[in-house]
Amino acid sequence: MKKIPLAIPHMSGNEMAYIEHAFNTNWIAPVGPNVDLFEKKISSYTLSHVAATSSGTAAIHLALIVLGVTAGDHVFCPSFTFSASANPIHYQGAEAVFIDSEIISWNMSPVALEKALLDAKKRNKLPKAVIVTHIYGQPAKMTEILEITEAYGVPVIEDAAESLGSTYKGMQTGTIGSLGIYSFNGNKIITTSGGGMLVSQNETLIQEAKFLSEQAKEPAPYYQHEKIGYNYRLSNISAGIGCGQIEVLDERIMQKRCIFAMYQEAFSELNFQQELPDTFSNRWLTAIQSERLNPLLLKNKLGSEGIEGRLLWKPLHMQPVYKSNSFYSERNTGEKSSAQILFETGFCLPSATQMTQDEQWSVIQKVSEFMELKGNII
Ligand SMILES: *Cc1c(COP(=O)(O)O)cnc(C)c1O
Repeated sequence: MKKIPLAIPHMSGNEMAYIEHAFNTNWIAPVGPNVDLFEKKISSYTLSHVAATSSGTAAIHLALIVLGVTAGDHVFCPSFTFSASANPIHYQGAEAVFIDSEIISWNMSPVALEKALLDAKKRNKLPKAVIVTHIYGQPAKMTEILEITEAYGVPVIEDAAESLGSTYKGMQTGTIGSLGIYSFNGNKIITTSGGGMLVSQNETLIQEAKFLSEQAKEPAPYYQHEKIGYNYRLSNISAGIGCGQIEVLDERIMQKRCIFAMYQEAFSELNFQQELPDTFSNRWLTAIQSERLNPLLLKNKLGSEGIEGRLLWKPLHMQPVYKSNSFYSERNTGEKSSAQILFETGFCLPSATQMTQDEQWSVIQKVSEFMELKGNII
C-alpha cells in the first residue's frame, strides 16, 4: 500500500547543479556563493534585507537578541503554534506569555493581545517583543495587531516559518513587523533540508544579526570578540538546495492552493481556516475543523489506511514545559480558549504537492466515510 504523507520535500530538479557548484568550487562551509545567491533571491522576493540562518529557530533567537530581549524580560507569543516559536524566548532567559488565537484565522487574537498588554501595563511589565505567527500559511490580522502593539511601543517579530509567499495587503508575511523569519525545514513550502532566514526592512538589525550569527568576529587582524556570538549561518550546500527550490515557490503555492480548494469543495460541512479579506495564503497545510471531529480517532483511522494526518498544534500553555507561563484567552474565564477548541476539534490533512488527484480523492473518501459526512460528496 502506497502511503500518503502529510507534507514532504519536493525538489525542482535544479538543486543538484547548485550543490555540484559548491563541491566544484570547494565552498563546503557556512559561507559561499550559494548563500549569497539564496539571500539575493529571498531578498528580491520579499523586498527586504535578509540573513540566511541554520534554522528558523535560530532566526527567531537572533531576532530576539537584536531587539534586546534579555533575562527576566517578557515576550508575548501565540499559544497555538509550534514550540519553536517560543523556545528561543527561554534561550534568552526571558519568559513567554501566551496569547490566544481567534477562530476565524487561527492566528493571534487582537482581543486577547489587547487584554494582555493592558494587564502588562498595569503590572509595569510590558513585553520586549510580540511574536506573531501566520499559522499553516494564513496571514494574521497584522493591521489590528500592529495598531495595538504600536500604541504600547512594542516591536513585532513575525514567525512566518510556514507562510513564505503569503501576503497581507500585498506585502509578504514576515516583512511587515520589525523583523520576520522563514523556515526551510524539510516539510515547509520550500526547503534547504534545514535552514532559515531572518528578514527586515531595517538593514542595521539584519547586519547586527548576521554579525552575531558568524561568531561575532570583530574586524581585527586576530580573533577579537566583544559580544557573545553564535554559529547560526546557513551551509553553502544547504543554500544550494534553496536556490533550486525558490525557482518553484510560486508553483508550489499554486499546487497547495489547489489541494486546499479540492478539500474545501468536498467538505462543505466542515470548517476551514479562512482567508481574511486582503490576505493571500500559501495554504501550506490544509486543516479541517468541526465540533463533530475527533482528531485522535481520525488520525488512527486514516493511519490504518496509510494516510498520514496530524493533530493541530497543542497549545503551548497546555504543554508541560510551559505549564507555569501566563496565558491570555480571548474568551471569558471558565470558558475553553479558542486555541484549545482548535486543538480538540481540528485536523491537518495530507497536503504534499506530489499527491495525485486520485490520492487526494481517496483521502476525501476515507475522511467522509469515517466522519459520516453527506454534504456534496459525489
Ligand atoms: C517550522 C517552524 C519553526 C521552526 O523552524 P525550523 O527551521 O524548523 O527551526 C518555527 N515556527 C513555526 C511556526 C514553524 O512551523
